Amino acid sequence: MSKVIAAQIDNILKGDKFIRHKKNAKGNTAIYSRNHPTAKFVRVVVDSGIDLTSGKANNQAGVKLVYINRQKGWRVITTDIFATAKKLASAIKQAEVAEKFVKSCKFCKAKKFKAKTGNEVCANACWTTWAGKKKSGAKKKKTSQKIAAQKTKAARQKNLQRTPQQKSSQKVTPKSQRTYPQRKSYKASSQKKRQKITAEILPGDLVSVEEIELDNITHDYTGSILGIVMKADQHGKVDVNWTANTSSLPEWDMPFTDHYQGGQRRTYRFKVLSRKVEWVKVV
Ligand SMILES: [Zn+2]
Repeated sequence: MSKVIAAQIDNILKGDKFIRHKKNAKGNTAIYSRNHPTAKFVRVVVDSGIDLTSGKANNQAGVKLVYINRQKGWRVITTDIFATAKKLASAIKQAEVAEKFVKSCKFCKAKKFKAKTGNEVCANACWTTWAGKKKSGAKKKKTSQKIAAQKTKAARQKNLQRTPQQKSSQKVTPKSQRTYPQRKSYKASSQKKRQKITAEILPGDLVSVEEIELDNITHDYTGSILGIVMKADQHGKVDVNWTANTSSLPEWDMPFTDHYQGGQRRTYRFKVLSRKVEWVKVV
């Protein structure tokens, strides 16, 4: 521990336009920081190793980058590069270069950081905004489902009289009551042997949806539908937490299996965004 080294470190950092923080929430050493020379919202942070009480340095400074998110929260995006006073300047350069290798969120362009769960997530947590949207959407849907259930119940009781309130919800036809014109051709061609098409869908996969018509991709919902796979069982059933859906595709049309039959007029399958996954025909 030395006051001379502390003065050296302080000099190097102040000479490089770092500001010294008054507090350190996580320890008793002096923290210095300044903006990254090129990357927006990225800050270079140095734990100087200078003890705030004694003013002495332990000659082991740590340099890292943080991303300042929308809520002004600091998210650590690189691991510490440790250096002595002598090598501090080059450690700062190294940390700055490391910025290029930090992944960005493909949705809001913020840097990603390793969350406590161990997953790399968006520093802006743009998920939460989507989750909020989903909640209100889900609430709406629940109501229409409830009304639909009431309608079914009413029909079952052969009570064909509808209250005006139920009539107003008629736009949403429950799945059980909907008719599909394509069903006919689907049945007609069912004599032909249809091919099963599968893909490996795993828990943790970030997924969107693709619309398939007669084995061609007719719509890609990337950017408007987003979910994360929670579970995939041995029968191919896939549980997804749909975090965002700004499309008009209703939840009942969302895919829920890792397989489907080829040659259908229209179907929806998962599109895995977080890694390369291909749909293959089962021979
Ligand atoms: Zn984001």
